[in-house]
Amino acid sequence: MTMRIAIVGAGPAGLFLARLIKKTMPETHVEVFEQNPRDATYGFGVTLAGAARARLGEVDPEVQARLEEAMVFNSTQAIVLDDESILLKYAGAGGAIERLNLLTILERLCEEVGVTPRYETRVDSKSDLTVRGLPSELGDYDLIVGADGANSEVRAMMGSGFRMTTRTLGNHFAWYGVGKALSPNALVFRHYEGGVFIAHYYAYTANMSTFVAECDADTWTRCGLDKMTDAERKALMEEIFSPELEGETLLENKSIWRQFTAQVAEDWSCGNAVLIGDALRVAHFSIGSGTRLAMDDALALHDALAGCEGDIPAALAAYEADRRPNRDLFTKATVKSFEWYENIAVRMQTDVASFAHDFLTRTGRVDDKRLERYAPEFYRDHVAPRLEREAAVGGRRG
Ligand SMILES: Cc1cc2nc3c(=O)[nH]c(=O)nc-3n(C[C@H](O)[C@H](O)[C@H](O)COP(=O)(O)OP(=O)(O)OC[C@H]3O[C@@H](n4cnc5c(N)ncnc54)[C@H](O)[C@@H]3O)c2cc1C
Repeated sequence: MTMRIAIVGAGPAGLFLARLIKKTMPETHVEVFEQNPRDATYGFGVTLAGAARARLGEVDPEVQARLEEAMVFNSTQAIVLDDESILLKYAGAGGAIERLNLLTILERLCEEVGVTPRYETRVDSKSDLTVRGLPSELGDYDLIVGADGANSEVRAMMGSGFRMTTRTLGNHFAWYGVGKALSPNALVFRHYEGGVFIAHYYAYTANMSTFVAECDADTWTRCGLDKMTDAERKALMEEIFSPELEGETLLENKSIWRQFTAQVAEDWSCGNAVLIGDALRVAHFSIGSGTRLAMDDALALHDALAGCEGDIPAALAAYEADRRPNRDLFTKATVKSFEWYENIAVRMQTDVASFAHDFLTRTGRVDDKRLERYAPEFYRDHVAPRLEREAAVGGRRG
């Protein structure tokens, strides 16, 4: 029997899934529905770490090769704490790519295997898709994949079906771009007029950078951002981070100031609907992994479908069993990471080396031992001497 699969959302998760399914199971009928026009998206550049790219390469070398051709690579990052800074040199190079370019490449790779996404086609409860358990009109899809991001309509269509846990954070942020490759990549933490402000920026092409600006909840009201327009907030960021922007202005693309809503679905599937990517859990931007988690979900769902011999409930159970441990691990790391940022004013009351160490180890996934491999120079200059001092003190006590 030919499987009929509807994928809602042509983000990285939906496009990669469509490509994989059509490539390895060409007899499957796959449709991708995307609400936006072909060349529209939010944001600027995103990062894709080396391990994630290598994993893509194992299953689809063409995807890895084409993405890497369009990426810029960098293995350094400055941590700036007011007037002090430290340059971290990582063992592996992080890759960054323009989000629109990433989507264009994936879309082309879909077309090459025979899937053409249907743009400007929003799926909602009135759509021509059958979702079991809901009043529905026409349609006969065996599987509906919610790859429709943080505000998933597939999730909403199922009511409480996916049992969401939702938490709105106190910090406020906006995603900007800069028309220049800022160098080095940096995370800047700055006191300014009684508030604390953060800029996270990195180059993603030879002449463009992503620039995420953030402030904590107290700063938002204390410095009057709550009463400003987005244009005034942008001007304020340009003033605070003028040393880093070197005369550049911040560019906007749906760059609205907002609070991040952390969301996790307890149920992975409901009837014949299943979630992948941000629809399943929104990865906070401070861990820079949302795109790869979305693509890893797509890969796991593909593998489960490829091995299920048409038994979709079995495939959905296999997909969840495969991905849940990783999802839960990352959810814990995400919470630790955003809580670190939520308490940034307290964290900033130290010297830059201690602050950088605190930043690097904030999620608990990197400890001193792993730091030795991950950021060897930082380990040598700042961690090893401290460990030696602590061992000497311990030795004297013993
Ligand atoms: C400020 C910021 C910085 C980030 N930086 C990084 C980074 O450096 N690295 C990284 O890996 N990730 C980053 N992310 C996260 C990353 O963008 C997401 O995790 C990733 O895009 C998730 O992919 P997705 O395919 O699940 O969802 P999305 O990319 O959100 O795609 C969902 C698609 O579904 C479409 N859609 C939604 N509803 C419907 C509907 N009803 N009908 C049809 N179509 C619909 C949307 O238009 C969209 O195209 C960042 C996010 C933010 C907010």
